[in-house]
Amino acid sequence: MTTAAILGGCVGIVLGSVSVVSLRLSEREQRGLHGMPPPPDIPDGASTILAVLSSSALVLDAAERVVNNSPTAVADGFVVDGRLVVPELVELSRAVRRDGVIRERELELPRGRGGPPIYVHVRAAPILDAHVLLLIDDHTQVRRVEEVRRDFVVNVSHELKTPVGGLSLLAEAIMDAKGDPEATDHFAHRMQLESARLGKLIKEIVDLSQLQSQDVLAGAEPVRIADVVAEAIEVSLIEARAKDIALTARCAPDMWVRGDFGLLVTAVRNLVGNAIAYSPNATEVAVGAEVTDDEASITVTDRGRGIPAAEQERIFERFYRGDAARSRSTGGTGLGLAIVKHICTNHGGQVSVWSQEGHGSTFTITLPLLAHPQHAAAESSRVPRPEGSAA
Ligand code: ADP
Repeated sequence: MTTAAILGGCVGIVLGSVSVVSLRLSEREQRGLHGMPPPPDIPDGASTILAVLSSSALVLDAAERVVNNSPTAVADGFVVDGRLVVPELVELSRAVRRDGVIRERELELPRGRGGPPIYVHVRAAPILDAHVLLLIDDHTQVRRVEEVRRDFVVNVSHELKTPVGGLSLLAEAIMDAKGDPEATDHFAHRMQLESARLGKLIKEIVDLSQLQSQDVLAGAEPVRIADVVAEAIEVSLIEARAKDIALTARCAPDMWVRGDFGLLVTAVRNLVGNAIAYSPNATEVAVGAEVTDDEASITVTDRGRGIPAAEQERIFERFYRGDAARSRSTGGTGLGLAIVKHICTNHGGQVSVWSQEGHGSTFTITLPLLAHPQHAAAESSRVPRPEGSAA
């Protein structure tokens, strides 16, 4: 059955219930006249229907009193002491009562006690004698997701334009430098670097959008954290050696989580890559993994430049770069930590940072622990691994 059909059915029942309300109201007036006790205002059925609707729902009578409402209409602050307190909604219900025409509106409403506005979709329909039914859906979250998506597209195009523009300029420079082998070599080398950066950027954009659209735990399997750390270190060795940085690891051997091995390696690898990139030569980057508070905790510690307190909250945002020029010189895209954050949340965990400027940083990933390693191992042997994946 479609949502429209269900809603139609519900509205039908509500209308039916409201007709009973109206009938009882007029009965009550008559009985009141004859000294009889008034019947209860709201039949049970109507309240039950309104309570299960996902929308906030309410029925107004001709005197603009709320004769029935869903609990959410009160919780969301639309109804206070039996009155509809949002002027825009009162206006809308008046217009519907005046001409009997069903109306739908997208409204931006101020949130009680300040804060950002909420966005609602309202359907107002006339029912019976001058009653109006309002169905209100909160679309704030949907709007927010749309805004984030729009921002992302704008950011992506901006970020892609820069290296593409750079490549085009370098190609021109090579043409102009015909006959000067040294200059040609120089520009060709820069072109290589720029195209590698572009390739990395495109890969990270694709990774991030895949992370946002898929449930990684759907195909999850038991993963040993020591294997994740070993692999992440292995793929970072060349970068570390290039800066004479000592990469050390200290891992609890039998710590298991449920997840995607490749994604977890990417998360730890991104943290190790940053630790190397933002540390001076000849320092140390340490990776540790242990059980803390019943969770698997993986830390990556460096003795690099550290992160100013004001930036620490922002570094996990997409495309945020602490020092854009410096990040660019390290080949940074501003997506590394956003990817780490998404991988962690997709695994039911989180990532946090402790850092002090001039002293270094420690990034900590925490993940839900698989309680019984033997059990995990047994499950692991039942799960077929893709060929070539790490054991
Ligand atoms: P980038 O590609 O710029 O490294 P990230 O998302 O990985 O993007 O990191 C965002 C910003 O956080 C970086 O530009 C840098 O300013 C800061 N940052 C991340 N890791 C570290 C670290 N270990 N030490 C100092 N600054 C860091």
